Amino acid sequence: MAQLTDDCFAFGGPLLTIEDAARLMAERIAPVAGAEMVPLYLADGRVLAADLSAGLPLPPFANSAVDRYAVRHSDLAATGQTRLPVLGRVAAGAAASPVPVAGGAVRVFTGAPMPPGTDTVFMQEDVAADGAAVVLPGGLRPGANMRLAGEDIAVGARALAAGTRLGPQELAMAAALGKSQLSVRRKLKVGVFSTGDELTEAGHPLPEAGIHDSNRIMLLSLVRRAGAEAIDLGILRDRRGELALRLRHAAGQCDLVLTSGGVSTGEEDHIKPAVESIGSLVFWRIAIKPGRPLALGVIDGKAFVGLPGNPVAVFVTFAFVVRPLLARLSGALWHEPRRMLVRAGFSYRKKKGRREYVRVTLAALADGQFEAHKHPRDGAGVLSSLTETDGLIELADDMTELCAGAPVTFIGYRDLT
Ligand code: AMP
Ligand code: MG
Repeated sequence: MAQLTDDCFAFGGPLLTIEDAARLMAERIAPVAGAEMVPLYLADGRVLAADLSAGLPLPPFANSAVDRYAVRHSDLAATGQTRLPVLGRVAAGAAASPVPVAGGAVRVFTGAPMPPGTDTVFMQEDVAADGAAVVLPGGLRPGANMRLAGEDIAVGARALAAGTRLGPQELAMAAALGKSQLSVRRKLKVGVFSTGDELTEAGHPLPEAGIHDSNRIMLLSLVRRAGAEAIDLGILRDRRGELALRLRHAAGQCDLVLTSGGVSTGEEDHIKPAVESIGSLVFWRIAIKPGRPLALGVIDGKAFVGLPGNPVAVFVTFAFVVRPLLARLSGALWHEPRRMLVRAGFSYRKKKGRREYVRVTLAALADGQFEAHKHPRDGAGVLSSLTETDGLIELADDMTELCAGAPVTFIGYRDLT
């Protein structure tokens, strides 16, 4: 397992932008080592460990893209129709006809190998049968309706890059190239704790002043969707000694330990002293709302991230800090979540010097554009503001005012989970 040095998150500045945070993580955190071969049917969601290059061309042989008549283009009249005798028949999966086709047409089916000498295919609906011959219209270009060997992927070409997260499309590519197994990165193990004396497990009655723990199940789901193995480590009470003991034990089993809550600097916020007693901790006051503060640390060479307690802040900081960190640790190529411009359906004021994310629903306008509507309740603890919206509007650090009607950047939850 990769060991992180104690000061790998160290950062001297007062308030860190998201970009600085991403850059520091990219510079200072190495992917965890280790790859394994897995059968294709178990490779979904895994990270490809090495480039996959093609051992055969795709398609492997020249074949017809449609049903009907393969011909040699040079047999066609320069203008107008051509009448050619039908000299044979080749179905998909059948060996190409050895019949010489000069001066004739061969009946072919989609996927059938092109008969030797032919280079063009006429579609059924374009031709007229005439006894044992066909009448072909003029004007078809040479090479029409056929696929050349290797036109998709040439032999030796890189079909998939190392670091690719494998999904349905990539698995199809691997199978087409004949791979029954792939070398993938070891799956990250991410341990998830909640912290707080007020927390009760769902399914248990709430004591006075208690709330159900909702962050942990959210984080476990986010971690799993990010392609890592999520390990449920339960609820930690607000007691420093117990916290330190269990965090250290978790660091022994996991590549990354995540907590939520307890990272402020109040009397009941014990994450900071607990982590400092067993490892090193850097407070990253990230310039992000909802979000900061956020704690990053190293415990016995393993990464630690202490997220805030409020559920919306957990969601947002996971999206913009933990997801890139997970990609980095897992050796996956990082793709920024897709940002699209929509029209602001509301006005908004914000403080300069921090990035702000506003929960919005999108409404389609008559002109095809989308308009973003802010959820009426924007507290960092308001869960309905996450379940009743489509995504986040991203407001730049230096911005102070958003006017209704202005273009704004939207990121959908589907690109963050
Ligand atoms: P803290 O940072 O620990 O002071 O928590 C900030 C707010 O988030 C408080 O209202 C907590 O009750 C709430 N909170 C902390 N952890 C959780 C959790 N796991 N599930 C739901 N709410 C939480
Ligand atoms: Mg707390």
